[in-house]
Amino acid sequence: MQALTQHFIDGRWVESRGHRRLPVSDPYHETVIAEVTAGSPQDVDAAVSAARRALDGWRALGGAARGDSLDALADALVARRDELAALSSRNNGKPLAEAEQDLADAIACYRYYAGEARALDERQGEAVDTGEAGLVSRRYRDPAGVAGLITPWNFPLVSSAWKLAPALAAGCTVVFKPSEVTPLPEQALAEIAEAIDLPPGVLNLVHGDGGNVGAPIAAHPGIDKLSFTGSNRVGEAVMAAATRGSRNVSLELGGKSPILVTEDADLNLAAELVLAGFCYNTGQMCSATSRLLVHESVADALHERLDAAIAGLTAGDPHDPATTLGPLVNAGQRRRVNAYLAEAEEEELTPTAPPIALPDHGHFVAPRVFRNVPTSSRLWREEVFGPVLCARTFRDDDEAVALANDSAFGLAASVVAGSDALAEALASRLVAGNVWCNTGQIAPPGLGWGGMKGSGIGRELGREGLEAYLETRYVTRPG
Ligand code: NAD
Repeated sequence: MQALTQHFIDGRWVESRGHRRLPVSDPYHETVIAEVTAGSPQDVDAAVSAARRALDGWRALGGAARGDSLDALADALVARRDELAALSSRNNGKPLAEAEQDLADAIACYRYYAGEARALDERQGEAVDTGEAGLVSRRYRDPAGVAGLITPWNFPLVSSAWKLAPALAAGCTVVFKPSEVTPLPEQALAEIAEAIDLPPGVLNLVHGDGGNVGAPIAAHPGIDKLSFTGSNRVGEAVMAAATRGSRNVSLELGGKSPILVTEDADLNLAAELVLAGFCYNTGQMCSATSRLLVHESVADALHERLDAAIAGLTAGDPHDPATTLGPLVNAGQRRRVNAYLAEAEEEELTPTAPPIALPDHGHFVAPRVFRNVPTSSRLWREEVFGPVLCARTFRDDDEAVALANDSAFGLAASVVAGSDALAEALASRLVAGNVWCNTGQIAPPGLGWGGMKGSGIGRELGREGLEAYLETRYVTRPG
């Protein structure tokens, strides 16, 4: 059995100082397919030291050369695309087609930030009007320093790309901790860093769990910038740790996003978007649109179409091209989703979706749709991270918007309406970082991604994603 007992630190594979090993699973076969070290704080120390030593050199290389490295990284991912998609699907349980889409997204992200790295050179030293006669100023963008990057398991290679690509483009060196649940695909990033001769210490990958590696990264005084994607509970702990030394932090946290369907919407399109919004990646998406708000006059017609769409799902082996619904990532995640379903039962909420056939092994949960869920219910307010949809009706736009915005989160929203103009008018009133109008959830690298309210701080992707890893230095002199 494969054992990931080494970290990639200072350009070399280094044995972990941690003695404990964690099982790495295949959630469809319910088998342990590898082990990964739980890591140790000393491993983090070594990685931070290496990243600090590499910082000046990596910064001095300039944006153009860093862009070339990011393109080389993208090329290496292209060369290993099929193998890595298969590995990600096996380790996470997502259907192969979804894992292939992840690879395409990750590659596009590295390419995009290769371009942004080059463009950064052109923006260096821009003249800024001081408003004072005889004084000139220039603006420089410097890397934020050593970046500590912590990612979850739901989109392996994608969440990491959203952090690594802009951090490296900006000139930061990184200490990256992938989720201990999906270390197998992420390990490839260190292999690629080695293969493309990235300077030692620029990309350090430390395997391990939250206690041994995540928390020590968050608390490390040698780390200047923290970027975390994951649960609110841990994100808040990371932010608390960042207060020591007033260090910069970006957080991508949870969501409970709404999807609005107006009375003049194309109901076939609506059913398709609602289904994808809570069943893609088996609902394990921070941006899952798991609260359906539908105009009362079309609610029954939409639910009929939605039931038909759910009945058309095929739960099965993620590697079988016919599979459209994979298992949840592990037994713990299934327990978590089942606990919400048990609570729904206690609240006498009855699911309406038709039962679908499930394999006799794998951490599967059948999609559930609950109608008329009270807004006070935990099912309505909390992130379930499984294929569970809560629905309510509305009478007019004001009620739809009020229900949509009545949430502790503000990550994403979808609007399905008879016209794009109406959809955009509703979008303008929603408190969410991304609103998709009459289209599916897409996250191209040029658009920012992130949430308002409890969904986090800052943005990833786009120019804002680069800014998150930059500091600004103004140099002013007589002139
Ligand atoms: P999690 O918070 O349990 O773990 C995320 C990462 O943090 C893992 O690498 C974990 O090892 C590490 N970690 C755990 N304890 C830590 C600690 N004390 N200090 C530092 N790091 C620690 O989340 P998860 O279960 O892996 O992922 C699911 C969550 O992620 C969901 O809540 C989801 O909404 C969120 N998420 C958000 C986005 C987004 O873009 N907003 C994207 C994906 C996932």
